[in-house]
Amino acid sequence: MDFDTPLAEAWIRAIAAAVEKEQSRLTELDSAIGDGDHGSNLRRGFAAALTALDGLRPAGPGAVLTRTGSTLISKVGGASGPLYGKAFRAIGAALPEPAGPADVAEALSAGLDAVRLLGKAEPGDKTIVDAWTPAVAAFRAAAATGAGLPASAAAAAAAAHPGARDTVPLRARKGRASYLGERSIGHQDPGATSTALVFRTLADVTAA
Ligand code: ADP
Ligand code: MG
Repeated sequence: MDFDTPLAEAWIRAIAAAVEKEQSRLTELDSAIGDGDHGSNLRRGFAAALTALDGLRPAGPGAVLTRTGSTLISKVGGASGPLYGKAFRAIGAALPEPAGPADVAEALSAGLDAVRLLGKAEPGDKTIVDAWTPAVAAFRAAAATGAGLPASAAAAAAAAHPGARDTVPLRARKGRASYLGERSIGHQDPGATSTALVFRTLADVTAA
């Protein structure tokens, strides 16, 4: 199984559905340590990404993700728009066609690099990076052992989830939550939580 155009589109549709479903949870998490807009930011961004895809005859899976990234950057005002936007643009730009599991691992890693370049967050800063980093490592490790796309994506999703959960005891050092200092401790990071959803949906669509 390759990462092809229908799969890229299915992934973005699945993310849009997941953030729609989890909007109130993401908003609740962001209300605790931010300004309560993470769910609505992502819902609006991915809804716009679907509209953009409807009008696109994509040149390949990379074009689907690049277009999604550009849409997120232009439609989402919060920190997460540019961060996810740059990530999807980098994934799209790095994705060859056809793309096998090792290619996808490298593309996802390029997405993480883009997040880190823009946001300057290190692992442990209580951000998107805390879920994305273990997900990429797990995806890459699985692909390196010869696992296919579904098993590699499942490994990534299985690593992203605890990555998000383990942000609970951390003190935020980047973004809005960092203004709270010690009071950010004891809450799960909204962005790490949405990143876990992004990887969960990738596992779901590759398994389908
Ligand atoms: P805003 O903080 O502008 O309201 P959102 O609520 O949509 O934007 O997104 C908040 C999330 O963005 C945080 O939970 C965190 O995971 C992520 N984030 C914020 N700043 C950074 C950063 N510098 N690097 C990585 N992720 C970040
Ligand atoms: Mg917010």
